[in-house]
Amino acid sequence: MTVTERAEDVWRGTEASDLDAFLAAYCADTRPVGRVVHAVCALCGNGVFAVLVDDAEGVAGRVCLRCGDRRWMLDSADHADAAALVPAECPCGGEDFDVAVGFSVDARGAVSYVHIALRCLADGTMGVYADWPQDSAPPADLLALV
Ligand SMILES: [Zn+2]
Ligand SMILES: [Zn+2]
Repeated sequence: MTVTERAEDVWRGTEASDLDAFLAAYCADTRPVGRVVHAVCALCGNGVFAVLVDDAEGVAGRVCLRCGDRRWMLDSADHADAAALVPAECPCGGEDFDVAVGFSVDARGAVSYVHIALRCLADGTMGVYADWPQDSAPPADLLALV
């Protein structure tokens, strides 16, 4: 694992698991992340995706770059009708990402906030491309909907 934080606050990682440390640091001062789950394609097992987000609406979807499988992330399907999705794009122009979701958990153990973190495969830059407060009644399998 190699995580570097540069002066201008750009985080870079060399592998998908570096998103864990990035999310922990990114959220430490606001809503500490209690759990990180990495996205893995249910059909082919691949872990690299193109990602579509509407950060205002709180919607994200991912497309497996090996087999083309498309999935809504988290409870996005419930809000997709109102969404205007745009492709997530790294400042370098890269659109191929490792994907992980950081879950903030409240005192009762319920998920209160979700953060969608991506690591660009081209240059390793990591960022949170969408985050939103979780509905009061999330799906029971929310942590599996990454
Ligand atoms: Zn796949
Ligand atoms: Zn990049």
